[in-house]
Amino acid sequence: MKNTLLFVMLLTLTLSFTTAAYGHVHGQGELFVSQHKQTWLLQFVLPSADLLGFEHTPKSDSEHQAIQQLAARFADHTQIIAFNEACQLDSIKHSLQTPSQHTEQANAHHDIELEYYFTCPNTVEQVSVLLFKWATSLTHIKAQWLNQQDQGMQKLTAAQPTITWSF
Ligand SMILES: [Zn+2]
Repeated sequence: MKNTLLFVMLLTLTLSFTTAAYGHVHGQGELFVSQHKQTWLLQFVLPSADLLGFEHTPKSDSEHQAIQQLAARFADHTQIIAFNEACQLDSIKHSLQTPSQHTEQANAHHDIELEYYFTCPNTVEQVSVLLFKWATSLTHIKAQWLNQQDQGMQKLTAAQPTITWSF
Protein backbone atom coordinates (compact mmCIF):
# COMPACT_ATOMS: atom_id res chain seq x y z
CA MET A 1 0.00 0.00 0.00
CA LYS A 2 2.76 2.35 0.98
CA ASN A 3 4.67 1.41 -2.15
CA THR A 4 1.67 2.01 -4.36
CA LEU A 5 1.36 5.48 -2.92
CA LEU A 6 5.03 6.08 -3.57
CA PHE A 7 4.60 5.04 -7.17
CA VAL A 8 1.69 7.43 -7.62
CA MET A 9 3.89 10.15 -6.20
CA LEU A 10 6.62 9.19 -8.66
CA LEU A 11 4.19 9.44 -11.53
CA THR A 12 3.07 12.86 -10.38
CA LEU A 13 6.69 13.89 -10.12
CA THR A 14 7.50 12.66 -13.62
CA LEU A 15 4.47 14.42 -15.05
CA SER A 16 5.49 17.72 -13.56
CA PHE A 17 8.99 17.02 -14.84
CA THR A 18 7.77 16.72 -18.41
CA THR A 19 5.51 19.75 -18.28
CA ALA A 20 7.50 22.13 -16.12
CA ALA A 21 11.20 21.47 -16.46
CA TYR A 22 11.48 20.85 -20.17
CA GLY A 23 12.74 23.56 -22.44
CA HIS A 24 12.16 22.89 -26.13
CA VAL A 25 15.51 22.80 -27.91
CA HIS A 26 15.96 21.09 -31.26
CA GLY A 27 18.39 18.18 -31.12
CA GLN A 28 17.75 17.64 -27.40
CA GLY A 29 15.33 15.29 -25.73
CA GLU A 30 14.48 14.20 -22.21
CA LEU A 31 13.96 10.81 -20.65
CA PHE A 32 12.61 9.96 -17.23
CA VAL A 33 13.04 6.40 -15.96
CA SER A 34 11.18 5.24 -12.88
CA GLN A 35 10.82 1.85 -11.24
CA HIS A 36 8.35 0.35 -8.84
CA LYS A 37 9.23 -3.25 -8.00
CA GLN A 38 9.10 -5.05 -11.37
CA THR A 39 7.39 -2.21 -13.18
CA TRP A 40 9.51 0.21 -15.16
CA LEU A 41 8.22 3.37 -16.77
CA LEU A 42 10.22 5.19 -19.43
CA GLN A 43 8.94 8.58 -20.52
CA PHE A 44 10.48 10.47 -23.42
CA VAL A 45 9.90 14.04 -24.50
CA LEU A 46 11.39 14.56 -27.96
CA PRO A 47 11.29 17.49 -30.36
CA SER A 48 9.00 16.78 -33.26
CA ALA A 49 11.49 18.52 -35.55
CA ASP A 50 14.05 15.76 -34.90
CA LEU A 51 11.70 12.80 -35.20
CA LEU A 52 9.41 13.95 -37.99
CA GLY A 53 11.30 16.75 -39.63
CA PHE A 54 8.39 19.13 -39.09
CA GLU A 55 6.45 20.53 -36.15
CA HIS A 56 3.15 21.67 -37.56
CA THR A 57 -0.04 19.65 -37.74
CA PRO A 58 0.36 17.30 -40.74
CA LYS A 59 -1.26 18.58 -43.90
CA SER A 60 0.24 16.81 -46.91
CA ASP A 61 0.03 13.08 -47.66
CA SER A 62 3.74 12.66 -47.07
CA GLU A 63 3.46 14.32 -43.64
CA HIS A 64 0.61 11.99 -42.67
CA GLN A 65 2.72 9.11 -43.90
CA ALA A 66 5.69 10.27 -41.82
CA ILE A 67 3.47 10.22 -38.71
CA GLN A 68 2.29 6.68 -39.46
CA GLN A 69 5.85 5.50 -40.00
CA LEU A 70 6.95 7.05 -36.73
CA ALA A 71 4.01 5.48 -34.86
CA ALA A 72 5.04 2.09 -36.30
CA ARG A 73 8.57 2.70 -35.11
CA PHE A 74 7.37 3.56 -31.59
CA ALA A 75 5.31 0.35 -31.57
CA ASP A 76 8.52 -1.62 -32.11
CA HIS A 77 10.22 -0.79 -28.82
CA THR A 78 13.41 -2.58 -29.94
CA GLN A 79 14.10 0.53 -32.07
CA ILE A 80 13.80 2.79 -29.04
CA ILE A 81 15.23 1.14 -25.93
CA ALA A 82 16.97 -1.98 -24.71
CA PHE A 83 17.42 -3.45 -21.24
CA ASN A 84 20.23 -5.78 -20.23
CA GLU A 85 17.58 -8.13 -18.84
CA ALA A 86 14.55 -9.70 -20.45
CA CYS A 87 11.63 -7.33 -19.89
CA GLN A 88 8.09 -7.65 -21.11
CA LEU A 89 6.43 -4.67 -22.75
CA ASP A 90 3.10 -3.90 -21.06
CA SER A 91 1.94 -0.78 -22.83
CA ILE A 92 2.92 2.13 -25.04
CA LYS A 93 1.43 5.60 -25.05
CA HIS A 94 2.41 8.44 -27.33
CA SER A 95 1.08 11.81 -28.35
CA LEU A 96 1.32 11.28 -32.10
CA GLN A 97 -2.26 10.32 -32.92
CA THR A 98 -3.93 12.65 -30.49
CA PRO A 99 -4.97 16.00 -31.89
CA SER A 100 -2.45 18.73 -31.31
CA GLN A 101 -3.16 21.06 -28.43
CA HIS A 102 -1.21 23.65 -30.33
CA THR A 103 -2.66 26.71 -31.74
CA GLU A 104 -1.96 26.95 -35.42
CA GLN A 105 0.94 29.35 -35.33
CA ALA A 106 3.47 29.35 -38.08
CA ASN A 107 6.41 29.07 -35.68
CA ALA A 108 4.87 26.88 -33.00
CA HIS A 109 7.23 24.27 -31.59
CA HIS A 110 6.03 20.80 -30.87
CA ASP A 111 7.24 17.94 -28.69
CA ILE A 112 6.32 14.30 -28.94
CA GLU A 113 5.67 12.44 -25.68
CA LEU A 114 6.30 8.73 -25.60
CA GLU A 115 5.83 6.31 -22.70
CA TYR A 116 6.63 2.66 -22.23
CA TYR A 117 5.66 0.41 -19.33
CA PHE A 118 7.68 -2.76 -18.88
CA THR A 119 7.69 -5.65 -16.45
CA CYS A 120 11.22 -6.76 -15.63
CA PRO A 121 11.34 -9.85 -13.39
CA ASN A 122 15.09 -9.59 -12.80
CA THR A 123 17.28 -6.75 -11.62
CA VAL A 124 17.87 -4.28 -14.43
CA GLU A 125 21.39 -2.91 -14.54
CA GLN A 126 21.38 -1.17 -17.90
CA VAL A 127 19.03 0.77 -20.13
CA SER A 128 20.18 1.86 -23.58
CA VAL A 129 18.47 4.40 -25.82
CA LEU A 130 18.51 3.15 -29.41
CA LEU A 131 16.72 5.96 -31.17
CA PHE A 132 19.97 7.85 -31.79
CA LYS A 133 20.57 5.25 -34.54
CA TRP A 134 17.76 6.59 -36.70
CA ALA A 135 16.91 10.02 -35.21
CA THR A 136 20.30 11.30 -36.29
CA SER A 137 19.70 15.01 -35.65
CA LEU A 138 19.17 14.23 -31.97
CA THR A 139 22.45 15.16 -30.29
CA HIS A 140 21.58 14.26 -26.72
CA ILE A 141 18.90 13.15 -24.30
CA LYS A 142 18.96 14.33 -20.72
CA ALA A 143 18.04 11.26 -18.71
CA GLN A 144 16.85 11.27 -15.11
CA TRP A 145 16.03 8.19 -13.12
CA LEU A 146 14.50 7.18 -9.87
CA ASN A 147 14.63 3.48 -9.12
CA GLN A 148 14.60 1.46 -5.94
CA GLN A 149 18.29 1.96 -5.18
CA ASP A 150 19.29 5.09 -6.89
CA GLN A 151 18.44 8.38 -8.46
CA GLY A 152 20.46 10.47 -10.80
CA MET A 153 20.95 12.16 -14.08
CA GLN A 154 23.03 11.50 -17.17
CA LYS A 155 23.45 12.98 -20.61
CA LEU A 156 22.97 10.30 -23.25
CA THR A 157 24.43 10.58 -26.76
CA ALA A 158 24.88 8.33 -29.79
CA ALA A 159 28.37 7.54 -28.47
CA GLN A 160 27.17 6.95 -24.89
CA PRO A 161 23.53 5.86 -25.02
CA THR A 162 23.53 3.64 -21.93
CA ILE A 163 22.70 4.19 -18.26
CA THR A 164 24.39 1.64 -16.01
CA TRP A 165 23.46 1.02 -12.38
CA SER A 166 25.69 -0.99 -10.10
CA PHE A 167 23.58 -2.53 -7.37
ZN1 LIG B 1 10.75 23.25 -32.31
